[in-house]
Amino acid sequence: MSEVRFDGRVAIVTGAGAGLGRSHALGLAARGAKVVVNDLGAATDGSGSGSDAARAVVEEIRAAGGKAIANGANVANAEQVQAMVDEAIAEFGHVDILVNNAGILRDKTFAKMTLDDFKMVVDVHLMGTVNCTHALWRHMLEREYGRIVLTTSSSGLYGNFGQSNYGAAKAAMLGLMNVLHHEGSRKNVRTNLLAPTATTRMTEELFPAAVKDLLKPETITPGLLALVSEDAPSRMVLGAGGGCFAETRIYETRGVALQGDDLTPEGVLANMDTIRSEDGQTLMGGAFDQTNKYIKMAAELRGIS
Ligand code: NAD
Repeated sequence: MSEVRFDGRVAIVTGAGAGLGRSHALGLAARGAKVVVNDLGAATDGSGSGSDAARAVVEEIRAAGGKAIANGANVANAEQVQAMVDEAIAEFGHVDILVNNAGILRDKTFAKMTLDDFKMVVDVHLMGTVNCTHALWRHMLEREYGRIVLTTSSSGLYGNFGQSNYGAAKAAMLGLMNVLHHEGSRKNVRTNLLAPTATTRMTEELFPAAVKDLLKPETITPGLLALVSEDAPSRMVLGAGGGCFAETRIYETRGVALQGDDLTPEGVLANMDTIRSEDGQTLMGGAFDQTNKYIKMAAELRGIS
């Protein structure tokens, strides 16, 4: 396997002043990428701002002989994001890689969640990712090269108590990735999801001391670098933590075709075991795969060819 290098490549990493983003930015720079280190300098709940965090990471990259600039854009602000992209292109000529990583938490049970707390988390995670990706999308299509990672979470993929806002925003990454894959991959713009689990300030109270060392951000960054490499896949959900990597997939069960007296709520409930059976389940390549499957099954049941 040839060495993964990013010489000549330009990357923007959001939320790169701390935690996972910092580790990703350092990893990209160490393998030759020029990096825009974005960070608003916000607290975990999204309050406050300051540019010191991004600058400190830029200093680390420069001290190691790499090239980087700091940027303090709030990813939830489309104008600031556009200015960041303009600055990146003015400084480095183009952008090849976008790592959407910036994030916040405002955990509460749904019963206690205010709509403001819900919206704030959606604005930073979902709209922040949309703003950055949209600002670069045409640029990447025109250059016929782009590697984009959206950061999701096990909370969005599988659910976690007290995180309806975060889980909804993180699950939205899946829908966005699926469509960007269909629209971008033929122009060599590949989009993937990273689902990390790491010890950062976001999770520092969750893990006992013995586990903290196992889950350092640096154990995840090799997966991120693979997802933005020349040989990157497209439309992959890569789970990562502690040096472990796995793919999350959505399968659809084979299901059942009903008609006549069976095409009733009672008929659906009576067939629930078959509907939920894992025998013959498949991956769907796109939305119309499902539609075509149902047309085929319904036609077969009715004897239509
Ligand atoms: P972190 O708090 O250490 O880092 C997040 C960074 O994002 C901070 O430096 C913060 O200033 C920056 N940021 C926040 N809002 C911003 C905004 N509006 N614009 C620009 N920058 C902003 O957290 P982390 O654990 O490194 O999380 C990184 C990403 O990984 C997040 O998207 C998070 O949801 C996701 N994630 C983390 C874990 C985990 O176990 N740590 C698990 C699943 C997903």
